[in-house]
This record gives sequence, C-alpha cells and structure tokens, in this order.
Amino acid sequence: MAPIAPDPAATPERTALSFELFPPRTDAAAIALGRTIDRLADVDPAFISVTFGAGGTSRDRSLTVLRYILENTDIEPMAHLTCVGSSHAEANELVRRFLDAGIRSFLALRGDPPAGSDPDAPLGDLATAAELVQLIHRVQQEREPFRQVAVAGNPVARRIRERGRPTRVAVATFPTGHPRSKDLAQDVDILLAKEVAGANLAITQLFWRADDYLGFVDRARAAGVTMPILPGIMPTTTSARLARLAELTEVEPPAEFAIALEIEPDAAAQAELGISFATGLAAEVLDGGAPGLHLYTYNRHEAVLDVVGRLGIATPHQLANERNTER
Ligand code: FAD
Repeated sequence: MAPIAPDPAATPERTALSFELFPPRTDAAAIALGRTIDRLADVDPAFISVTFGAGGTSRDRSLTVLRYILENTDIEPMAHLTCVGSSHAEANELVRRFLDAGIRSFLALRGDPPAGSDPDAPLGDLATAAELVQLIHRVQQEREPFRQVAVAGNPVARRIRERGRPTRVAVATFPTGHPRSKDLAQDVDILLAKEVAGANLAITQLFWRADDYLGFVDRARAAGVTMPILPGIMPTTTSARLARLAELTEVEPPAEFAIALEIEPDAAAQAELGISFATGLAAEVLDGGAPGLHLYTYNRHEAVLDVVGRLGIATPHQLANERNTER
C-alpha cells in the first residue's frame, strides 16, 4: 500500500489516524472501554473522540471517558459537543466545563432535536454548528486572553505570548449530503461556513463508496475549503448493525455488501466481510489523497485494529519515534 499521502492543507502532523468512541452506559461497559482505549492508544492515533448525547444527556459520562484518555494515555482526547436546544449561557458553561477539565480538542456539532419534536420549534440560541465553533474559540479566548512564558535566564521574568487556542476545532461533514440539506452544494457551503467560523478539521459521516468521499473533497476544495477532511469509516461486522447504521445515517450501503452480510450464516465470516470491505474502502480513499482515517469503533478495538494492521499504517508519530531510536 502507498504510504499515507499527507493532505497539503493538513496543519497538525498527527492527523493520520483517529478513533471514535461513545460513552458507556454501565460500569461493566466502562471497564471494557478502558481496555479498548488502552489497545487503541497502542497504535498512537492523533486523537480519540468521544460522542455526546444531543441535549447534554451524556455530558458527565462523555467527560469521564475523555478524562480517562487524558490521564491514562498520551493521546489527545477530542470532545464532541452539541448545541441544539441550548441557550447561550448553557452552551458557554458547557464549553467552559470541558476546557476546565483540560480538553483542548472539540468536534462542534449542532446535534438533532429529540425524535418526534415539532420541526418548527426553535433549536435554541445556537442554530448551527458554525456558531458553536465560534463560541468555543470565544470561550477559550476569554478564559486565557494571553499566555505567559518564562524568559530564558531570568527565573522571575515572564513574556506575553499570543492567545492560547484550542488544538483542534473539528466539524462534521456529509459526503453524500446531510439528510435535510437541499443538495450537495449546500453541504459544501455549510462546510465552508464552518471553516470561516474557525474550524480546522472536518470529519465525514459514514460513506460506502470511495468516489463519494473523493468527489466531495474535490467540490469542497473547488469552493475554497482548505482544512483537512478526514474520511469516517466503520468496519461493519454484522448485518443488524449495517441496517441500524443505514437507518441512523440515512446513507444506503451498497446492496451487494448488505446482501453478502445478510446471507452469511457464520459470525466470523461476517466479521471478515465487514473488515475487508472497510479495508478496501480505506485503501481507496488513502490512495486518492485522504489525509488519514477516522475509524468508528463501536467501542470495540478488534475490527478497527485489524483494518489498521491490514493497511500497514504507521502513524507520523510512530515514524518519528522510529527515527529517534535509529539515531
Ligand atoms: P450543521 O452543520 O449546523 O447543520 C445542520 C443542518 O442545518 C443541516 O441540515 C444543514 O443543511 C442546515 N444548515 C446548517 N447551516 C445552515 C445555514 N447557514 N443555512 C441553512 N441551513 C443550514 N450527533 C450527536 O448528537 N452527538 C454526537 O456526538 C455526534 N457526532 C457526530 C460525528 C460526526 C463525524 C458526524 C458526521 C455526525 C455526528 N452527529 C452527532 C450527528 C449530527 O449532530 C447531526 O447529523 C446533525 O443533524 C447535524 O449536525 P451538524 O453539526 O452537521 O450541523
């Protein structure tokens, strides 16, 4: 496989690989998730992101997982945050709380209103993810208007440096179109608006054909989007999960893959189908110039690490470590 071709627009050097988790609901699941995080950390991803229930339902559980990553690994934890249904004051307090916990990377999302709610009801003070991106920067600047750094040779002197900024403010994007958007041009416009608001990384919704991702990136670049656009891929190892994902994301998987999974009676063979499909898709987008991979884990490390192993990915950080030990 060709080495990961870094996107020329990619700013951070560690964007090659990232993983997504969701906060566990039980103590047993929390213990299992700790082990999963340790295993994911072994391949040295650029960051591990943790989802957030729209409306703040999972706030404390998300924060617990993020703190575990912060305190037990040297991997950057990324907090998903949603703003749907929040007042300005609530959103401000939420961002502040995560910054206070030491989180410096965010995936700013609007989130969806509760199922069955009145479609004409107001969404809260922040109607779009772009406004949340601006708020994250604003809250960070208010907390830390400038930075003081030591002056070499003078233990008491301090120099003022530029404002501290969050490491990453990522946003979601939809290569096959957000279910509620008019057309793909609107999705590109919205992505550009998010970058103008201060986002520096985009992560895609699941997609099942490499051309959907690569074509969308071309459209986004033509419209002026410069931030890296990480393809979001999930090895889907059961037919039931594939059906659930299609329902949740409203992105239809290829019929031949869905049928192959459905008619395969053996669980191990089903897993193999899902892992090889995801590996093939990942290889195609990387060959097409993707700056890395964001792998949806479903809180399990086995399938995503299998994909990483089959692709033979060495992260930029691992490569740097190897170079250091060679010296
Ligand atoms: P926005 O970009 O604000 O867009 C939402 C809608 O508004 C779209 O229909 C868009 O077409 C429209 N819109 C936006 N801006 C404008 C504008 N200026 N003018 C007109 N229309 C506009 N949900 C969660 O609850 N928790 C999570 O942790 C979570 N993680 C996710 C991670 C990823 C990688 C992805 C792809 C999605 C995730 N979601 C999550 C789902 C997401 O919250 C929903 O898809 C939501 O409907 C859209 O969120 P957004 O941030 O893209 O919103």
